[in-house]
Amino acid sequence: MIKYSVIVPIYNEEEVIETCYEKLKEVMEKTEENYEIIFINDGSIDKSVEIITNICERDETVALISFSRNFGHQNALTAGMEHAIGMAVIAIDSDLQDPPHIILDMIKKWKEGYHVVYGKRQKRRGESFFKKISAYLYYRILRALTTVEIPVDVADFRLIDRRICNILNNQISEKNRYIRGLVAFCGFKQTFVEYERDERLAGETKYPLKKMIKFAVDGITGFSYKPLKIATKIGFFISLFSFTYLCYVIYEALFLQRPVVGWASTISIILFFQGIVLIVLGIIGEYIGRIFEEIKGRPIYLIEKSINIKSGDVTKYEFDK
Ligand code: UDP
Ligand code: MG
Repeated sequence: MIKYSVIVPIYNEEEVIETCYEKLKEVMEKTEENYEIIFINDGSIDKSVEIITNICERDETVALISFSRNFGHQNALTAGMEHAIGMAVIAIDSDLQDPPHIILDMIKKWKEGYHVVYGKRQKRRGESFFKKISAYLYYRILRALTTVEIPVDVADFRLIDRRICNILNNQISEKNRYIRGLVAFCGFKQTFVEYERDERLAGETKYPLKKMIKFAVDGITGFSYKPLKIATKIGFFISLFSFTYLCYVIYEALFLQRPVVGWASTISIILFFQGIVLIVLGIIGEYIGRIFEEIKGRPIYLIEKSINIKSGDVTKYEFDK
């Protein structure tokens, strides 16, 4: 029986894979239990696949799932969870920003009976001021908007129990997978270990601003419809304000005989409110777009090839830790 599955998404990470593998191996050997390391190649166009294939050939504990194109980080993690057979599944980034030795602390917590152990970042080294501040604000806005308690300052470095993994694989069918939210949604016994996030070992972030914004919006729209309610409230207040103002203008014209002047102010008010209307339509559009994605029901990833993927009975999760 495989006890631990470590899943590592890879997108153009040729510079870091070897080191990542060595470090993970070193840590996992310390557990003195069976484990597998699954690399999920998310459509890399560099030498990542060759490097991983090479590792798979000399080490049976390492497996590869290779996508037919880039499907995104969250989908790569999903594929990892769907193919993992360990009793605990650990997701970690390949760039070693999340220190592998923290896995041992996670395992300790898991053995104490926790079903989810998040890695919680205390400090972030080597990341831009913009990234830090935007991440800080984002996590707090998300918390304010959602009904599910999504923990702040945690990313995708976490350990989940087989039980949670089975729920994510079999019972949560949504295509737009904001995994940290889905894990929080599951409940059970959750805890965290704190760590300091290091600098990227090499290469550049694979999350440019555009992807980051999409990911952020995915999180909000996937877990809250408050933005739609906020739109209703804004609309309501603006209408109330406009109506009061309209009454005043009529009163001025009829009773005070003052001609209404102010072409410039009229235009700016119209433009301002048009802007708000468009923003609100945009918010609605974000939701409709996601509904569209869901109902099409297309697969969220396609596998081109895989190596060393093991199979096992993952339905039994009652076992002696
Ligand atoms: N990644 C991926 N697909 C993508 C983007 C990223 O599989 O489309 C992987 C990437 O190779 C890395 C992890 O996801 O292992 C996290 O990405 P990155 O370190 O670039 O994100 P950051 O730490 O800068 O937020
Ligand atoms: Mg990183």
